[in-house]
Amino acid sequence: MERIAIFPGSFDPFTIGHENIVNRGLDMFDKIIIAVGFNSNKKEFFPIEKRVEWIKDIFWDNPKISVKKYEGLTVDFAAEVGARYILRGLRTAADFEYERAIAQVNKAMTGIDSVFLLTQPEHTPVNSSIVRDILKHGGDAGKFLPDKIKEGIRKFKL
Ligand code: ADP
Repeated sequence: MERIAIFPGSFDPFTIGHENIVNRGLDMFDKIIIAVGFNSNKKEFFPIEKRVEWIKDIFWDNPKISVKKYEGLTVDFAAEVGARYILRGLRTAADFEYERAIAQVNKAMTGIDSVFLLTQPEHTPVNSSIVRDILKHGGDAGKFLPDKIKEGIRKFKL
């Protein structure tokens, strides 16, 4: 049976921290579906279509990775695409506490297991909301972004 994982998040925008988790996850799973969440209660910074398009540009040549948008419960989306695992990254103890409850509830509800990868030390401070703040104020967040995301953002702003 194929081992399929979804890697869900807002990815607003997708950072080098996210990219690293996906690349390391490839060792463990046959397929990873990057699931870009649409949350009507959350104000988006970049439109979801753009976030999906830019992430696709990074991984276009890897047949094990696909990128899809979704709305609603993450476990429902996982079931829809036949994924038995949810991949998540952990940076801090705060991330762990937040993730623990969700993962345990998801497991109890559906049997879907969450798999956590610890961030590489140098990616610990890399955070989409800090990147958004830098961009909002005209700063250069390039260090924290994969090249294709930088390119997408540059064109988007033109
Ligand atoms: P969410 O809104 O669901 O937290 P994010 O887009 O912020 O979505 O993050 C998606 C996943 O990537 C989460 O599991 C998060 O912990 C992880 N992540 C975010 N930044 C990093 C990083 N710098 N290193 C490793 N994992 C990260």
